[in-house]
Amino acid sequence: NGQFAVKRAKSSGRTEVYHTRAFDIAREQFGMESELRRAIENGDMTLSFQPICDLASGRITAFEALARWTTEEGIKLSPNDFIPVAEESGLIVPLGRWAMEEAARTLAAWDRSAGGDCGVKVAVNLSAIQLQRDQIPAMVKIALDRHGISGARVTLELTESALVSDPDRISRTLMALKDLGTTLAMDDFGTGYSNLAYLQKLPIDLLKIDRSFVSGMLADRDKVAIVRAILSLAQALGMQTTAEGIETNELAQTLAALGCTYGQGFLYARPLEERAAYDFLMASRA
Ligand code: C2E
Ligand code: MG
Ligand code: MG
Ligand code: MG
Repeated sequence: NGQFAVKRAKSSGRTEVYHTRAFDIAREQFGMESELRRAIENGDMTLSFQPICDLASGRITAFEALARWTTEEGIKLSPNDFIPVAEESGLIVPLGRWAMEEAARTLAAWDRSAGGDCGVKVAVNLSAIQLQRDQIPAMVKIALDRHGISGARVTLELTESALVSDPDRISRTLMALKDLGTTLAMDDFGTGYSNLAYLQKLPIDLLKIDRSFVSGMLADRDKVAIVRAILSLAQALGMQTTAEGIETNELAQTLAALGCTYGQGFLYARPLEERAAYDFLMASRA
Protein backbone atom coordinates (compact mmCIF):
# COMPACT_ATOMS: atom_id res chain seq x y z
CA ASN A 1 0.00 0.00 0.00
CA GLY A 2 1.75 3.11 -1.30
CA GLN A 3 0.08 5.66 0.97
CA PHE A 4 0.99 3.73 4.05
CA ALA A 5 4.57 3.45 2.89
CA VAL A 6 4.79 7.21 2.30
CA LYS A 7 3.30 8.02 5.71
CA ARG A 8 5.64 5.67 7.46
CA ALA A 9 8.56 7.05 5.52
CA LYS A 10 7.71 10.65 6.48
CA SER A 11 7.83 9.82 10.14
CA SER A 12 11.29 8.37 9.66
CA GLY A 13 12.41 11.26 7.45
CA ARG A 14 12.89 9.17 4.31
CA THR A 15 9.91 10.30 2.23
CA GLU A 16 11.70 10.35 -1.12
CA VAL A 17 13.09 6.86 -0.95
CA TYR A 18 9.88 5.19 0.11
CA HIS A 19 7.72 7.22 -2.26
CA THR A 20 9.92 6.26 -5.17
CA ARG A 21 9.90 2.60 -4.27
CA ALA A 22 6.14 2.47 -3.83
CA PHE A 23 5.78 4.20 -7.18
CA ASP A 24 8.16 1.76 -8.87
CA ILE A 25 6.30 -1.20 -7.50
CA ALA A 26 2.98 0.21 -8.68
CA ARG A 27 4.41 0.97 -12.12
CA GLU A 28 6.01 -2.44 -12.46
CA GLN A 29 2.75 -4.08 -11.51
CA PHE A 30 0.83 -1.94 -13.98
CA GLY A 31 3.38 -2.62 -16.72
CA MET A 32 3.13 -6.34 -16.18
CA GLU A 33 -0.65 -6.13 -16.24
CA SER A 34 -0.82 -4.40 -19.60
CA GLU A 35 1.83 -6.73 -21.03
CA LEU A 36 -0.09 -9.71 -19.74
CA ARG A 37 -3.26 -8.41 -21.38
CA ARG A 38 -1.39 -8.04 -24.67
CA ALA A 39 0.24 -11.46 -24.34
CA ILE A 40 -3.15 -13.14 -24.08
CA GLU A 41 -4.36 -11.27 -27.17
CA ASN A 42 -1.14 -11.69 -29.22
CA GLY A 43 -0.53 -15.37 -28.63
CA ASP A 44 2.63 -14.91 -26.53
CA MET A 45 1.00 -17.23 -24.07
CA THR A 46 1.20 -20.96 -24.74
CA LEU A 47 0.29 -24.14 -22.93
CA SER A 48 2.76 -26.87 -22.09
CA PHE A 49 1.52 -30.37 -21.39
CA GLN A 50 2.86 -32.70 -18.72
CA PRO A 51 1.88 -36.38 -18.79
CA ILE A 52 0.03 -38.02 -15.91
CA CYS A 53 0.53 -41.79 -15.74
CA ASP A 54 -1.34 -44.69 -14.25
CA LEU A 55 1.20 -45.87 -11.66
CA ALA A 56 0.28 -49.55 -11.93
CA SER A 57 0.56 -49.82 -15.73
CA GLY A 58 2.72 -46.81 -16.59
CA ARG A 59 0.16 -45.82 -19.20
CA ILE A 60 -0.36 -42.09 -19.89
CA THR A 61 -3.93 -41.24 -19.00
CA ALA A 62 -3.87 -37.43 -19.12
CA PHE A 63 -1.83 -34.31 -19.73
CA GLU A 64 -1.94 -31.31 -17.43
CA ALA A 65 -2.05 -28.01 -19.33
CA LEU A 66 0.37 -25.49 -17.82
CA ALA A 67 0.51 -21.86 -18.95
CA ARG A 68 3.78 -20.44 -20.30
CA TRP A 69 4.50 -16.82 -21.13
CA THR A 70 7.36 -15.75 -23.39
CA THR A 71 7.63 -11.94 -23.23
CA GLU A 72 8.49 -9.78 -26.24
CA GLU A 73 12.07 -9.65 -24.90
CA GLY A 74 12.17 -13.44 -25.09
CA ILE A 75 12.07 -13.95 -21.34
CA LYS A 76 10.18 -17.04 -20.21
CA LEU A 77 8.02 -16.34 -17.18
CA SER A 78 6.80 -18.96 -14.77
CA PRO A 79 3.11 -19.17 -13.89
CA ASN A 80 4.17 -18.71 -10.28
CA ASP A 81 5.18 -15.17 -11.30
CA PHE A 82 2.30 -14.13 -13.54
CA ILE A 83 -0.71 -16.02 -12.16
CA PRO A 84 -0.69 -13.92 -8.94
CA VAL A 85 -0.60 -10.73 -11.06
CA ALA A 86 -3.40 -12.09 -13.22
CA GLU A 87 -5.44 -12.84 -10.11
CA GLU A 88 -4.93 -9.41 -8.55
CA SER A 89 -5.79 -7.59 -11.75
CA GLY A 90 -8.77 -9.75 -12.74
CA LEU A 91 -6.93 -10.81 -15.92
CA ILE A 92 -7.20 -14.38 -14.64
CA VAL A 93 -10.70 -14.41 -16.17
CA PRO A 94 -9.58 -13.92 -19.81
CA LEU A 95 -6.41 -15.95 -19.14
CA GLY A 96 -8.45 -18.81 -17.70
CA ARG A 97 -10.87 -18.69 -20.63
CA TRP A 98 -7.96 -18.74 -23.04
CA ALA A 99 -6.39 -21.74 -21.24
CA MET A 100 -9.63 -23.75 -21.33
CA GLU A 101 -10.15 -22.90 -24.98
CA GLU A 102 -6.56 -23.73 -25.92
CA ALA A 103 -6.61 -27.03 -24.01
CA ALA A 104 -9.81 -28.09 -25.81
CA ARG A 105 -8.37 -27.03 -29.17
CA THR A 106 -5.20 -29.04 -28.51
CA LEU A 107 -7.08 -32.17 -27.49
CA ALA A 108 -9.20 -31.92 -30.65
CA ALA A 109 -6.01 -31.54 -32.74
CA TRP A 110 -4.46 -34.61 -31.09
CA ASP A 111 -7.64 -36.58 -31.78
CA ARG A 112 -7.48 -35.57 -35.43
CA SER A 113 -3.81 -36.62 -35.64
CA ALA A 114 -4.69 -39.96 -34.02
CA GLY A 115 -7.63 -40.48 -36.40
CA GLY A 116 -10.03 -40.72 -33.44
CA ASP A 117 -10.05 -40.38 -29.65
CA CYS A 118 -6.34 -40.20 -28.74
CA GLY A 119 -7.15 -41.79 -25.39
CA VAL A 120 -6.05 -39.14 -22.91
CA LYS A 121 -7.76 -36.47 -20.88
CA VAL A 122 -6.58 -32.93 -20.49
CA ALA A 123 -6.38 -31.30 -17.05
CA VAL A 124 -6.92 -27.54 -16.77
CA ASN A 125 -6.19 -25.41 -13.70
CA LEU A 126 -8.90 -23.11 -12.37
CA SER A 127 -7.97 -20.29 -10.03
CA ALA A 128 -10.08 -19.49 -6.98
CA ILE A 129 -10.52 -15.90 -8.22
CA GLN A 130 -11.65 -17.15 -11.61
CA LEU A 131 -14.25 -19.37 -9.92
CA GLN A 132 -15.54 -16.33 -8.03
CA ARG A 133 -15.65 -13.97 -10.97
CA ASP A 134 -16.49 -16.00 -14.05
CA GLN A 135 -19.41 -18.20 -15.07
CA ILE A 136 -17.21 -21.30 -15.17
CA PRO A 137 -19.71 -23.99 -16.28
CA ALA A 138 -20.90 -21.86 -19.20
CA MET A 139 -17.31 -20.96 -20.10
CA VAL A 140 -16.23 -24.62 -20.06
CA LYS A 141 -19.25 -25.71 -22.09
CA ILE A 142 -18.57 -23.13 -24.80
CA ALA A 143 -14.97 -24.32 -25.14
CA LEU A 144 -15.98 -28.00 -25.25
CA ASP A 145 -18.74 -27.41 -27.80
CA ARG A 146 -16.57 -25.28 -30.03
CA HIS A 147 -13.98 -28.06 -30.34
CA GLY A 148 -16.31 -31.05 -30.16
CA ILE A 149 -14.73 -32.36 -26.96
CA SER A 150 -16.81 -34.32 -24.48
CA GLY A 151 -16.75 -33.23 -20.83
CA ALA A 152 -15.54 -36.71 -19.89
CA ARG A 153 -12.20 -35.84 -21.52
CA VAL A 154 -11.55 -32.93 -19.17
CA THR A 155 -10.29 -32.73 -15.59
CA LEU A 156 -10.61 -29.41 -13.79
CA GLU A 157 -8.07 -28.76 -11.05
CA LEU A 158 -9.11 -26.46 -8.26
CA THR A 159 -7.42 -25.50 -5.02
CA GLU A 160 -8.82 -25.49 -1.51
CA SER A 161 -8.79 -21.67 -1.51
CA ALA A 162 -11.66 -21.83 -4.03
CA LEU A 163 -13.91 -23.34 -1.39
CA VAL A 164 -13.71 -20.72 1.34
CA SER A 165 -15.71 -17.81 -0.02
CA ASP A 166 -19.32 -18.76 -0.78
CA PRO A 167 -19.96 -22.48 -0.11
CA ASP A 168 -23.42 -22.57 -1.70
CA ARG A 169 -22.27 -20.88 -4.86
CA ILE A 170 -19.21 -23.11 -5.22
CA SER A 171 -21.35 -26.17 -4.60
CA ARG A 172 -23.74 -25.20 -7.40
CA THR A 173 -20.80 -24.45 -9.71
CA LEU A 174 -19.18 -27.82 -9.07
CA MET A 175 -22.47 -29.67 -9.58
CA ALA A 176 -22.90 -27.90 -12.92
CA LEU A 177 -19.36 -28.91 -13.91
CA LYS A 178 -20.15 -32.53 -12.97
CA ASP A 179 -23.28 -32.30 -15.15
CA LEU A 180 -20.96 -31.53 -18.06
CA GLY A 181 -19.21 -34.85 -17.35
CA THR A 182 -15.90 -33.39 -16.17
CA THR A 183 -13.63 -34.86 -13.50
CA LEU A 184 -12.95 -32.57 -10.54
CA ALA A 185 -9.55 -32.68 -8.88
CA MET A 186 -8.34 -30.97 -5.71
CA ASP A 187 -4.89 -29.61 -6.56
CA ASP A 188 -2.01 -29.21 -4.07
CA PHE A 189 -4.06 -31.21 -1.58
CA GLY A 190 -2.88 -30.85 1.99
CA THR A 191 -1.42 -27.37 1.67
CA GLY A 192 -4.57 -25.26 1.94
CA TYR A 193 -7.80 -24.89 3.82
CA SER A 194 -7.89 -27.53 6.52
CA ASN A 195 -11.62 -28.03 7.11
CA LEU A 196 -12.10 -31.39 5.44
CA ALA A 197 -15.89 -31.33 5.61
CA TYR A 198 -16.00 -30.15 2.01
CA LEU A 199 -14.71 -33.53 0.83
CA GLN A 200 -17.98 -35.03 2.00
CA LYS A 201 -20.22 -32.35 0.53
CA LEU A 202 -18.61 -31.52 -2.79
CA PRO A 203 -18.35 -33.78 -5.86
CA ILE A 204 -14.55 -34.10 -5.85
CA ASP A 205 -13.27 -37.13 -7.79
CA LEU A 206 -9.55 -36.94 -7.25
CA LEU A 207 -6.96 -35.62 -4.81
CA LYS A 208 -3.61 -34.41 -6.12
CA ILE A 209 -1.04 -34.88 -3.39
CA ASP A 210 1.17 -31.82 -3.28
CA ARG A 211 4.77 -32.14 -4.38
CA SER A 212 5.98 -30.86 -1.00
CA PHE A 213 4.86 -34.17 0.58
CA VAL A 214 5.97 -36.39 -2.28
CA SER A 215 9.50 -35.22 -3.07
CA GLY A 216 11.89 -36.22 -0.34
CA MET A 217 9.32 -38.64 1.02
CA LEU A 218 11.69 -41.62 0.95
CA ALA A 219 13.98 -39.94 3.47
CA ASP A 220 11.27 -38.50 5.69
CA ARG A 221 8.93 -40.67 7.78
CA ASP A 222 6.62 -37.74 8.51
CA LYS A 223 6.04 -37.17 4.81
CA VAL A 224 5.31 -40.86 4.32
CA ALA A 225 2.78 -40.67 7.16
CA ILE A 226 1.03 -37.71 5.53
CA VAL A 227 0.97 -39.36 2.11
CA ARG A 228 -0.42 -42.58 3.60
CA ALA A 229 -3.11 -40.63 5.44
CA ILE A 230 -4.17 -38.81 2.27
CA LEU A 231 -4.26 -42.09 0.33
CA SER A 232 -6.43 -43.81 2.90
CA LEU A 233 -8.72 -40.79 3.18
CA ALA A 234 -9.16 -40.78 -0.60
CA GLN A 235 -9.77 -44.51 -0.68
CA ALA A 236 -12.37 -44.32 2.10
CA LEU A 237 -14.18 -41.53 0.25
CA GLY A 238 -14.00 -43.32 -3.11
CA MET A 239 -11.65 -40.81 -4.68
CA GLN A 240 -8.66 -41.36 -6.92
CA THR A 241 -5.22 -39.90 -6.23
CA THR A 242 -2.37 -38.36 -8.19
CA ALA A 243 1.07 -37.83 -6.69
CA GLU A 244 2.83 -34.70 -8.00
CA GLY A 245 6.57 -34.22 -8.34
CA ILE A 246 7.71 -37.82 -8.91
CA GLU A 247 11.35 -37.54 -9.91
CA THR A 248 12.68 -41.08 -9.30
CA ASN A 249 11.70 -44.63 -10.14
CA GLU A 250 11.93 -45.60 -6.51
CA LEU A 251 9.33 -42.97 -5.59
CA ALA A 252 7.01 -44.16 -8.34
CA GLN A 253 7.29 -47.75 -7.11
CA THR A 254 6.73 -46.80 -3.49
CA LEU A 255 3.66 -44.71 -4.34
CA ALA A 256 2.24 -47.49 -6.50
CA ALA A 257 2.75 -49.95 -3.64
CA LEU A 258 0.96 -47.57 -1.28
CA GLY A 259 -2.04 -47.57 -3.63
CA CYS A 260 -1.71 -44.17 -5.27
CA THR A 261 -3.58 -44.20 -8.61
CA TYR A 262 -1.65 -41.76 -10.81
CA GLY A 263 1.73 -40.08 -10.91
CA GLN A 264 3.11 -36.93 -12.48
CA GLY A 265 6.65 -35.60 -12.47
CA PHE A 266 9.97 -35.14 -14.19
CA LEU A 267 10.57 -38.93 -14.05
CA TYR A 268 8.00 -39.29 -16.83
CA ALA A 269 8.47 -35.96 -18.57
CA ARG A 270 8.76 -32.25 -18.04
CA PRO A 271 5.92 -30.13 -19.42
CA LEU A 272 6.16 -30.44 -23.22
CA GLU A 273 5.02 -28.32 -26.14
CA GLU A 274 1.83 -29.40 -27.91
CA ARG A 275 3.52 -31.38 -30.70
CA ALA A 276 6.20 -32.91 -28.45
CA ALA A 277 3.51 -34.05 -26.01
CA TYR A 278 1.63 -35.78 -28.81
CA ASP A 279 4.81 -37.49 -30.07
CA PHE A 280 5.63 -38.53 -26.51
CA LEU A 281 2.18 -40.06 -26.15
CA MET A 282 2.48 -41.99 -29.42
CA ALA A 283 6.02 -43.18 -28.58
CA SER A 284 4.84 -44.39 -25.17
CA ARG A 285 2.37 -46.69 -26.89
CA ALA A 286 4.68 -48.06 -29.54
P1 C2E B 1 0.31 -27.16 -10.30
O1 C2E B 1 -1.05 -27.13 -10.89
O2 C2E B 1 0.47 -27.86 -9.00
O3 C2E B 1 1.23 -27.79 -11.44
C1 C2E B 1 2.35 -28.59 -11.20
C2 C2E B 1 3.63 -27.79 -11.20
O4 C2E B 1 4.69 -28.64 -10.75
C3 C2E B 1 4.06 -27.32 -12.59
O5 C2E B 1 4.75 -26.09 -12.43
C4 C2E B 1 5.02 -28.42 -13.03
O6 C2E B 1 5.94 -28.01 -14.02
C5 C2E B 1 5.71 -28.70 -11.73
N1 C2E B 1 6.27 -30.06 -11.68
C6 C2E B 1 5.73 -31.18 -12.21
N2 C2E B 1 6.47 -32.25 -11.95
C7 C2E B 1 7.54 -31.83 -11.23
C8 C2E B 1 8.69 -32.50 -10.67
O7 C2E B 1 8.89 -33.70 -10.79
N3 C2E B 1 9.56 -31.72 -9.99
C9 C2E B 1 9.39 -30.38 -9.86
N4 C2E B 1 10.31 -29.71 -9.19
N5 C2E B 1 8.31 -29.72 -10.37
C10 C2E B 1 7.41 -30.44 -11.05
P2 C2E B 1 4.44 -24.81 -13.32
O8 C2E B 1 4.14 -25.20 -14.72
O9 C2E B 1 5.54 -23.84 -13.04
O10 C2E B 1 3.08 -24.27 -12.71
C11 C2E B 1 3.02 -23.76 -11.40
C12 C2E B 1 1.61 -23.53 -10.97
O11 C2E B 1 1.01 -22.47 -11.71
C13 C2E B 1 0.69 -24.73 -11.19
O12 C2E B 1 0.88 -25.65 -10.13
C14 C2E B 1 -0.67 -24.07 -11.19
O13 C2E B 1 -1.14 -23.88 -9.87
C15 C2E B 1 -0.37 -22.70 -11.79
N6 C2E B 1 -0.82 -22.68 -13.20
C16 C2E B 1 -0.18 -23.09 -14.32
N7 C2E B 1 -0.94 -22.89 -15.42
C17 C2E B 1 -2.10 -22.35 -14.98
C18 C2E B 1 -3.32 -21.91 -15.63
O14 C2E B 1 -3.50 -22.01 -16.86
N8 C2E B 1 -4.30 -21.38 -14.84
C19 C2E B 1 -4.14 -21.27 -13.47
N9 C2E B 1 -5.17 -20.75 -12.75
N10 C2E B 1 -3.04 -21.69 -12.83
C20 C2E B 1 -2.02 -22.21 -13.57
MG1 MG C 1 -2.53 -28.28 -11.34
MG1 MG D 1 -0.76 -29.50 -8.60
MG1 MG E 1 1.49 -28.10 -6.87
